[in-house]
Amino acid sequence: MRMILVGPPGAGKGTQAARLVETFNIPHISSGDMFRAEVKQGTELGKQLDHHMKLGGLVPDEVTIPIVLKRITQADTAAGFMLDGFPRTRPQAEALDKEMAKAGVALDAVVLIEVPDQLLEERAIHRRSDPQTGAIYHLKYNPPPAEIAGRLVHRSDDTKEAVDKRVAKYHAETAPIIPYYMEKGILKRVDGVGDPDVITERIKAVLND
Ligand code: ADP
Ligand code: ADP
Repeated sequence: MRMILVGPPGAGKGTQAARLVETFNIPHISSGDMFRAEVKQGTELGKQLDHHMKLGGLVPDEVTIPIVLKRITQADTAAGFMLDGFPRTRPQAEALDKEMAKAGVALDAVVLIEVPDQLLEERAIHRRSDPQTGAIYHLKYNPPPAEIAGRLVHRSDDTKEAVDKRVAKYHAETAPIIPYYMEKGILKRVDGVGDPDVITERIKAVLND
């Protein structure tokens, strides 16, 4: 299974990816997680990425594309992968197609998780993650256990200003990849509002269509 999860910031891509990769037994490849790991290491590249990410902008294609394409050619992706947060622009989508064609493989599905803009800010602002397990929580909708409260991370780009900017970027730069995948006949739309368990079932259902 080679698939992509697309959706605005806070749509639930990371939450759903964590559940689905267990079912499909494929690696979860999140460009955002890869970039944050690089920032944490304090490398020159990390500093460059941080500069673009912290205010809610996109990392330029010429930086993003080689990092992600290199990752999807590693041995653990032989049976497939779940991309989360990539592609985010039309040139990224085209570069991914080219790389996959070179390897003689193709995408099976692109799942678009649809959530109205007015819900995104609240989802992202109250998001917290556990650096030890990678689990994603929400202070209201999926509260973390009290004993791990001290180690939870609040992303520096999960502020009102940065989230609003990321949502605007999503509409301007990422939404154009939707017709691109519709034309290829592999786009599957899923309503991202509701209980996360129900949404997982919706995604599995469209993947079986
Ligand atoms: P979210 O979970 O809110 O959708 P991500 O964790 O996927 O956010 O990404 C966080 C940030 O990392 C983005 O706002 C952007 O700055 C950068 N980023 C991640 N993936 C990409 C990409 N494919 N192209 C450009 N920038 C990216
Ligand atoms: P994305 O990766 O698309 O940015 P996340 O999976 O990180 O989104 O989810 C963003 C926030 O919303 C997290 O705090 C998460 O716990 C919460 N969340 C995820 N799915 C739902 C849902 N179906 N209903 C309410 N909150 C959700």
